[in-house]
Amino acid sequence: MRLSDPLTFAAGGGEIDRASHLRVRSAALLAGAGARLLPQWRDKALIELAGECPALGWVTPEPGLVAEAHEAPVFLGCYRGAPCFTADFSALDEDTAKTRFGETMKFIDLRSVAGQLSQGEATIVAAAKGVIGWHRIHPFCARCGGASAPEDGGWRRKCSACGALHFPRTDPVVIMLVTRGDPRGDKVLLGRQSVWAPGLYSLLAGFMEPGETIADAVRRETFEETSVRVGRVRFLGSQPWPFPASLMLGCWAEALSEEIVIDDEIEDACWVGRAEMALAFRGEHPRFKAPRADSIARWILTAWVAGEIAEAESA
Ligand SMILES: [Zn+2]
Repeated sequence: MRLSDPLTFAAGGGEIDRASHLRVRSAALLAGAGARLLPQWRDKALIELAGECPALGWVTPEPGLVAEAHEAPVFLGCYRGAPCFTADFSALDEDTAKTRFGETMKFIDLRSVAGQLSQGEATIVAAAKGVIGWHRIHPFCARCGGASAPEDGGWRRKCSACGALHFPRTDPVVIMLVTRGDPRGDKVLLGRQSVWAPGLYSLLAGFMEPGETIADAVRRETFEETSVRVGRVRFLGSQPWPFPASLMLGCWAEALSEEIVIDDEIEDACWVGRAEMALAFRGEHPRFKAPRADSIARWILTAWVAGEIAEAESA
Protein backbone atom coordinates (compact mmCIF):
# COMPACT_ATOMS: atom_id res chain seq x y z
CA MET A 1 0.00 0.00 0.00
CA ARG A 2 1.32 3.42 -1.00
CA LEU A 3 0.11 6.94 -0.36
CA SER A 4 -0.86 6.98 -4.03
CA ASP A 5 -3.08 3.90 -3.58
CA PRO A 6 -6.80 4.52 -3.17
CA LEU A 7 -8.30 4.17 0.28
CA THR A 8 -11.41 2.09 0.93
CA PHE A 9 -14.53 4.32 0.71
CA ALA A 10 -12.51 6.94 -1.19
CA ALA A 11 -12.25 5.93 -4.84
CA GLY A 12 -12.91 9.42 -6.18
CA GLY A 13 -11.52 10.15 -9.61
CA GLY A 14 -14.92 10.57 -11.24
CA GLU A 15 -15.89 6.88 -11.13
CA ILE A 16 -19.01 7.95 -9.27
CA ASP A 17 -20.86 10.99 -10.56
CA ARG A 18 -23.07 12.40 -7.82
CA ALA A 19 -24.95 14.23 -10.58
CA SER A 20 -26.38 16.73 -8.10
CA HIS A 21 -28.04 18.65 -10.95
CA LEU A 22 -30.31 15.62 -11.48
CA ARG A 23 -31.55 15.46 -7.88
CA VAL A 24 -34.61 17.58 -8.67
CA ARG A 25 -35.60 14.90 -11.20
CA SER A 26 -34.85 11.94 -8.96
CA ALA A 27 -38.46 10.68 -8.83
CA ALA A 28 -38.55 10.41 -12.63
CA LEU A 29 -35.12 8.74 -12.70
CA LEU A 30 -36.25 6.23 -10.07
CA ALA A 31 -39.22 5.23 -12.23
CA GLY A 32 -37.17 5.18 -15.43
CA ALA A 33 -35.33 2.34 -17.16
CA GLY A 34 -32.00 1.20 -15.73
CA ALA A 35 -32.46 2.59 -12.23
CA ARG A 36 -30.91 0.54 -9.41
CA LEU A 37 -31.68 0.53 -5.72
CA LEU A 38 -29.48 -0.49 -2.81
CA PRO A 39 -31.67 -1.51 0.15
CA GLN A 40 -30.41 -0.91 3.69
CA TRP A 41 -31.78 -2.39 6.89
CA ARG A 42 -30.90 -1.34 10.43
CA ASP A 43 -27.39 -0.06 9.64
CA LYS A 44 -26.61 -2.90 7.24
CA ALA A 45 -26.42 -2.85 3.45
CA LEU A 46 -27.75 -5.51 1.09
CA ILE A 47 -24.82 -7.58 -0.20
CA GLU A 48 -24.88 -10.06 -3.11
CA LEU A 49 -22.97 -13.17 -2.09
CA ALA A 50 -23.47 -15.28 -5.23
CA GLY A 51 -20.26 -14.19 -6.98
CA GLU A 52 -16.61 -14.86 -6.28
CA CYS A 53 -16.40 -11.69 -4.19
CA PRO A 54 -19.16 -9.91 -2.28
CA ALA A 55 -20.81 -7.08 -4.23
CA LEU A 56 -23.53 -4.54 -3.50
CA GLY A 57 -27.03 -5.98 -3.67
CA TRP A 58 -28.58 -3.75 -6.33
CA VAL A 59 -32.23 -4.42 -7.08
CA THR A 60 -34.77 -2.91 -9.47
CA PRO A 61 -36.81 -0.18 -7.72
CA GLU A 62 -40.25 -1.51 -8.59
CA PRO A 63 -43.12 0.60 -7.22
CA GLY A 64 -44.25 -2.16 -4.81
CA LEU A 65 -40.77 -2.35 -3.32
CA VAL A 66 -40.31 1.43 -3.12
CA ALA A 67 -43.60 1.61 -1.19
CA GLU A 68 -42.07 -0.61 1.51
CA ALA A 69 -39.19 1.84 2.10
CA HIS A 70 -39.28 4.17 5.10
CA GLU A 71 -39.05 7.30 2.95
CA ALA A 72 -38.47 8.14 -0.72
CA PRO A 73 -35.18 6.61 -1.94
CA VAL A 74 -32.09 8.83 -1.92
CA PHE A 75 -30.50 9.51 -5.31
CA LEU A 76 -26.80 8.59 -4.97
CA GLY A 77 -25.79 9.64 -8.48
CA CYS A 78 -24.75 7.73 -11.57
CA TYR A 79 -22.45 4.73 -11.33
CA ARG A 80 -21.45 2.81 -14.46
CA GLY A 81 -24.10 4.68 -16.39
CA ALA A 82 -27.01 3.77 -14.13
CA PRO A 83 -28.92 6.10 -11.80
CA CYS A 84 -28.40 4.64 -8.34
CA PHE A 85 -30.58 4.99 -5.26
CA THR A 86 -30.64 3.74 -1.70
CA ALA A 87 -33.51 3.39 0.76
CA ASP A 88 -34.18 2.34 4.33
CA PHE A 89 -36.10 -0.90 4.85
CA SER A 90 -35.53 -1.05 8.63
CA ALA A 91 -39.28 -1.49 9.22
CA LEU A 92 -39.07 -5.04 7.85
CA ASP A 93 -39.03 -7.58 10.66
CA GLU A 94 -35.94 -9.72 11.00
CA ASP A 95 -37.33 -12.84 9.33
CA THR A 96 -38.71 -10.89 6.38
CA ALA A 97 -35.43 -8.99 5.98
CA LYS A 98 -33.57 -12.30 5.72
CA THR A 99 -35.66 -13.55 2.80
CA ARG A 100 -37.11 -10.44 1.12
CA PHE A 101 -34.35 -10.12 -1.50
CA GLY A 102 -33.65 -13.77 -2.27
CA GLU A 103 -31.31 -16.52 -1.23
CA THR A 104 -27.98 -14.93 -2.08
CA MET A 105 -28.66 -11.34 -1.00
CA LYS A 106 -28.14 -10.64 2.70
CA PHE A 107 -28.01 -7.55 4.89
CA ILE A 108 -24.46 -7.39 6.21
CA ASP A 109 -22.51 -5.02 8.45
CA LEU A 110 -20.35 -2.94 6.16
CA ARG A 111 -17.33 -3.29 8.42
CA SER A 112 -17.13 -6.99 7.65
CA VAL A 113 -17.27 -6.70 3.84
CA ALA A 114 -16.03 -3.23 2.87
CA GLY A 115 -12.49 -4.40 2.18
CA GLN A 116 -13.76 -7.06 -0.24
CA LEU A 117 -15.93 -4.72 -2.33
CA SER A 118 -14.58 -2.99 -5.42
CA GLN A 119 -13.25 0.53 -4.80
CA GLY A 120 -16.22 2.05 -6.61
CA GLU A 121 -18.82 0.03 -4.71
CA ALA A 122 -17.16 0.68 -1.34
CA THR A 123 -17.20 4.38 -2.11
CA ILE A 124 -20.84 4.50 -3.16
CA VAL A 125 -21.97 2.44 -0.16
CA ALA A 126 -20.13 4.83 2.19
CA ALA A 127 -22.31 7.65 0.88
CA ALA A 128 -25.40 5.43 1.02
CA LYS A 129 -24.81 4.40 4.61
CA GLY A 130 -23.93 7.90 5.76
CA VAL A 131 -26.96 9.59 4.24
CA ILE A 132 -29.52 6.96 5.31
CA GLY A 133 -28.06 6.93 8.82
CA TRP A 134 -28.54 10.68 8.97
CA HIS A 135 -32.16 10.52 7.78
CA ARG A 136 -32.96 7.82 10.31
CA ILE A 137 -31.99 9.93 13.32
CA HIS A 138 -33.17 13.31 12.05
CA PRO A 139 -36.94 12.98 11.56
CA PHE A 140 -37.56 16.24 13.44
CA CYS A 141 -36.42 19.81 12.92
CA ALA A 142 -33.50 20.81 15.17
CA ARG A 143 -34.84 24.38 15.27
CA CYS A 144 -38.52 23.93 16.21
CA GLY A 145 -39.13 20.19 16.71
CA GLY A 146 -41.57 19.94 13.79
CA ALA A 147 -41.63 16.93 11.49
CA SER A 148 -39.28 17.17 8.53
CA ALA A 149 -39.28 15.36 5.20
CA PRO A 150 -36.58 14.63 2.61
CA GLU A 151 -36.30 16.63 -0.59
CA ASP A 152 -33.74 17.34 -3.34
CA GLY A 153 -33.31 13.64 -4.00
CA GLY A 154 -32.77 12.97 -0.30
CA TRP A 155 -29.87 15.37 0.21
CA ARG A 156 -31.68 17.67 2.60
CA ARG A 157 -34.73 17.70 4.87
CA LYS A 158 -37.27 20.49 5.11
CA CYS A 159 -39.25 21.24 8.25
CA SER A 160 -43.01 21.16 7.68
CA ALA A 161 -43.60 23.71 10.45
CA CYS A 162 -40.94 26.43 10.12
CA GLY A 163 -39.50 25.65 6.69
CA ALA A 164 -35.91 25.29 7.95
CA LEU A 165 -33.61 23.25 5.72
CA HIS A 166 -31.29 20.65 7.24
CA PHE A 167 -28.37 18.99 5.47
CA PRO A 168 -26.62 15.62 6.01
CA ARG A 169 -23.96 15.86 8.65
CA THR A 170 -20.30 14.87 8.31
CA ASP A 171 -18.06 14.92 11.37
CA PRO A 172 -14.37 15.68 10.68
CA VAL A 173 -11.88 13.63 12.68
CA VAL A 174 -8.12 14.25 12.70
CA ILE A 175 -5.94 11.13 12.75
CA MET A 176 -2.22 11.65 13.05
CA LEU A 177 1.08 9.97 12.47
CA VAL A 178 3.07 11.66 15.26
CA THR A 179 6.75 10.96 14.74
CA ARG A 180 9.62 11.91 16.97
CA GLY A 181 12.05 14.61 15.95
CA ASP A 182 11.54 14.95 12.22
CA PRO A 183 9.82 12.85 9.55
CA ARG A 184 12.92 10.64 9.32
CA GLY A 185 12.55 9.86 13.03
CA ASP A 186 12.07 6.18 13.54
CA LYS A 187 9.34 6.14 16.19
CA VAL A 188 5.62 6.75 15.93
CA LEU A 189 3.21 7.55 18.76
CA LEU A 190 0.42 4.96 19.02
CA GLY A 191 -2.44 4.61 21.47
CA ARG A 192 -5.22 2.20 22.32
CA GLN A 193 -8.68 2.47 23.81
CA SER A 194 -9.94 0.01 26.39
CA VAL A 195 -12.88 -1.03 24.15
CA TRP A 196 -10.60 -2.14 21.30
CA ALA A 197 -9.60 -5.75 20.61
CA PRO A 198 -6.72 -6.89 22.85
CA GLY A 199 -3.34 -5.74 21.56
CA LEU A 200 -4.70 -3.35 18.94
CA TYR A 201 -2.77 -0.07 18.75
CA SER A 202 -3.44 2.70 16.26
CA LEU A 203 -2.75 6.33 15.44
CA LEU A 204 -4.14 8.94 17.80
CA ALA A 205 -7.36 10.52 16.56
CA GLY A 206 -10.12 12.83 17.69
CA PHE A 207 -13.06 14.93 16.56
CA MET A 208 -12.40 18.47 15.43
CA GLU A 209 -14.07 21.27 17.36
CA PRO A 210 -15.72 24.42 15.99
CA GLY A 211 -13.23 27.15 15.17
CA GLU A 212 -10.22 24.85 14.83
CA THR A 213 -7.90 24.38 11.89
CA ILE A 214 -6.84 20.81 11.10
CA ALA A 215 -3.37 21.52 12.52
CA ASP A 216 -4.84 23.01 15.71
CA ALA A 217 -6.97 19.91 16.23
CA VAL A 218 -3.95 17.62 15.70
CA ARG A 219 -1.94 19.54 18.29
CA ARG A 220 -4.81 19.70 20.82
CA GLU A 221 -5.83 16.04 20.56
CA THR A 222 -2.24 14.78 20.75
CA PHE A 223 -1.57 16.88 23.82
CA GLU A 224 -4.89 16.00 25.51
CA GLU A 225 -4.39 12.27 25.07
CA THR A 226 -0.64 11.95 25.67
CA SER A 227 0.81 15.33 26.79
CA VAL A 228 3.15 15.17 23.78
CA ARG A 229 3.65 18.57 22.13
CA VAL A 230 3.36 18.79 18.33
CA GLY A 231 4.99 21.29 15.97
CA ARG A 232 4.68 21.00 12.22
CA VAL A 233 1.61 19.30 10.75
CA ARG A 234 1.11 18.15 7.15
CA PHE A 235 -2.09 16.85 5.58
CA LEU A 236 -1.69 13.41 3.95
CA GLY A 237 -5.13 12.33 2.76
CA SER A 238 -8.74 11.79 3.78
CA GLN A 239 -11.20 8.92 4.04
CA PRO A 240 -14.96 8.91 4.54
CA TRP A 241 -15.67 6.57 7.46
CA PRO A 242 -19.43 6.05 7.66
CA PHE A 243 -19.56 4.61 11.22
CA PRO A 244 -21.68 6.63 11.49
CA ALA A 245 -20.62 9.87 9.78
CA SER A 246 -16.92 10.61 10.11
CA LEU A 247 -14.48 12.08 7.63
CA MET A 248 -10.98 11.01 8.64
CA LEU A 249 -8.32 13.67 7.97
CA GLY A 250 -4.95 11.92 7.92
CA CYS A 251 -1.92 14.01 8.93
CA TRP A 252 1.75 13.72 9.71
CA ALA A 253 2.77 15.61 12.85
CA GLU A 254 6.17 16.38 14.28
CA ALA A 255 6.54 15.61 17.99
CA LEU A 256 8.43 18.27 19.95
CA SER A 257 8.49 16.27 23.18
CA GLU A 258 8.67 12.59 24.03
CA GLU A 259 7.36 12.00 27.56
CA ILE A 260 3.88 10.42 27.58
CA VAL A 261 1.21 11.10 30.19
CA ILE A 262 -2.08 9.54 29.12
CA ASP A 263 -5.52 10.93 29.92
CA ASP A 264 -8.81 9.11 30.58
CA GLU A 265 -9.72 8.85 26.88
CA ILE A 266 -7.13 6.18 26.13
CA GLU A 267 -5.90 3.11 27.93
CA ASP A 268 -2.29 3.23 26.80
CA ALA A 269 0.10 5.07 24.49
CA CYS A 270 3.67 4.33 23.50
CA TRP A 271 6.38 5.01 20.94
CA VAL A 272 6.75 2.23 18.39
CA GLY A 273 9.64 1.72 15.98
CA ARG A 274 9.42 0.97 12.25
CA ALA A 275 10.71 -2.57 12.60
CA GLU A 276 8.19 -3.31 15.37
CA MET A 277 5.36 -1.92 13.23
CA ALA A 278 6.43 -4.08 10.31
CA LEU A 279 6.26 -7.12 12.60
CA ALA A 280 2.76 -6.11 13.71
CA PHE A 281 1.66 -5.89 10.04
CA ARG A 282 2.75 -9.49 9.59
CA GLY A 283 0.92 -10.52 12.77
CA GLU A 284 4.22 -11.51 14.37
CA HIS A 285 4.61 -8.89 17.09
CA PRO A 286 4.14 -10.31 20.62
CA ARG A 287 2.40 -7.15 21.90
CA PHE A 288 1.02 -4.98 19.07
CA LYS A 289 -1.75 -5.73 16.58
CA ALA A 290 -1.96 -3.39 13.57
CA PRO A 291 -5.11 -1.44 12.59
CA ARG A 292 -7.54 -3.01 10.09
CA ALA A 293 -6.46 -3.13 6.45
CA ASP A 294 -9.22 -0.84 5.13
CA SER A 295 -8.47 2.00 7.57
CA ILE A 296 -6.60 5.23 6.90
CA ALA A 297 -4.47 4.43 9.97
CA ARG A 298 -3.15 1.33 8.22
CA TRP A 299 -2.66 3.26 4.98
CA ILE A 300 -0.59 5.94 6.73
CA LEU A 301 1.40 3.51 8.88
CA THR A 302 2.19 1.30 5.87
CA ALA A 303 3.51 4.30 3.96
CA TRP A 304 5.55 5.36 6.99
CA VAL A 305 7.09 1.90 7.46
CA ALA A 306 8.01 1.94 3.76
CA GLY A 307 9.77 5.30 4.22
CA GLU A 308 7.36 7.02 1.88
CA ILE A 309 6.25 9.71 4.29
CA ALA A 310 9.83 10.52 5.25
CA GLU A 311 10.63 11.01 1.57
CA ALA A 312 7.61 13.21 1.05
CA GLU A 313 8.27 15.38 4.08
CA SER A 314 11.98 15.84 3.58
CA ALA A 315 11.59 16.82 -0.08
ZN1 LIG B 1 -38.77 23.65 12.12
